[in-house]
Amino acid sequence: RTVYVNGEYLPEDRATVSIFDRGFLMADGVYEVVSVLDGKLLDFDGHIERLKRSLSELSMGNPLTDEEYLNVQRTLIENNGITDGMIYLQVTRGNPGDRDFAYPPEDTVPTVVMFTQAKPGLADNPAAKTGWKVISVEDLRWSRRDIKTVQLLYPSMAKMEAKARGVDDAWLVEDGQVTEGTSNNAYIVKGNTIITRALSHDILHGITRAAVLRFASEAQMKVEERSFTIAEAQAADEAFITSASAFVMPVVEIDGAAVGAGQVGPVATRLREIYLEEMRKAAV
Ligand code: PLP
Repeated sequence: RTVYVNGEYLPEDRATVSIFDRGFLMADGVYEVVSVLDGKLLDFDGHIERLKRSLSELSMGNPLTDEEYLNVQRTLIENNGITDGMIYLQVTRGNPGDRDFAYPPEDTVPTVVMFTQAKPGLADNPAAKTGWKVISVEDLRWSRRDIKTVQLLYPSMAKMEAKARGVDDAWLVEDGQVTEGTSNNAYIVKGNTIITRALSHDILHGITRAAVLRFASEAQMKVEERSFTIAEAQAADEAFITSASAFVMPVVEIDGAAVGAGQVGPVATRLREIYLEEMRKAAV
C-alpha cells in the first residue's frame, strides 16, 4: 500500500514519523475518516470543514488547502486501486524536537498522514440486515468530544468491554443520558419521530448525522434533537447509529433488552437506503 506522509507518497513500510511527534507523545492531533464507494469520496467537503474546525479549536495550523487534501486522497485511491473502503487522515502538531506540555512555536510544521483501508462490499455489510447489539457503559471521556482528537483510549476500552460481552458496540451514558456510541452517533425512533442528542461539546458533530437528519426531514419524518435514557431507548420502536464508515446501522438490542420487535426496523432501513443513494450521487 502507498501512504502519504508530509508531502511524500511512500510504501507503508518506509513511512515514518518522529518519536517526538506531539501526536505520539501527547495525542495532540486530529483526524477524519472518509468513506470511499465506487472509487469516490463520500461527503468530502463535510469532513474537511470539520477537520478545519478541530484544528482551529486546538489553535493548530492547517497544513494543506482543501484542494490539496482532495488531490492526495484521490491519488491514494488511484494508486491503491480502492473501490470501496476508507481514507484515514491525521494532522498532528508536529515534531518540536523534545517533549514539553507547552505548545511548540507556531512555525513548527504539522505532521500530515493519510492512508487507505480497503473494505470490499462496504455498503453491503450483512450486519445492516440483522442489526447491532450494544451495551451501555459510563461515558468517561474528556469534555470536548466535539473536537475529533486521536485521544481514543476510552472508546477503545468501551469497545473491548462490548466485545468481551459478545456484542457489537457500547453506548456511552453520562448523567443518565446517552451521549453517543464509541465511534458513532446514537438515535432512537418513536413512531415517525427520530430522536438524537443535540449538538454540544458532549458529542462529536457527526458528518453522517447532519446528512441523515437532513434526509429524514426531507422524507417527512420528525426530528427531535434531545437527550434520551437507556430505558427510553429500550422502549423505543427502533434504534440506530450513524458514522462515516457504518453509514446507518440498526441497533436491535440494548443491555440484553430487545428494541421494539428486536429486529431491524423500517425507519433505519429506509434512512440507510436514502443515505447511500444520495451520498453516492454526490460523491467526488
Ligand atoms: N461520534 C464519535 C465519538 C465518533 O468517533 C464518530 C466517528 O468516528 C462519530 C460520532 C460519527 O461521526 P461521522 O458521522 O462524522 O463519522
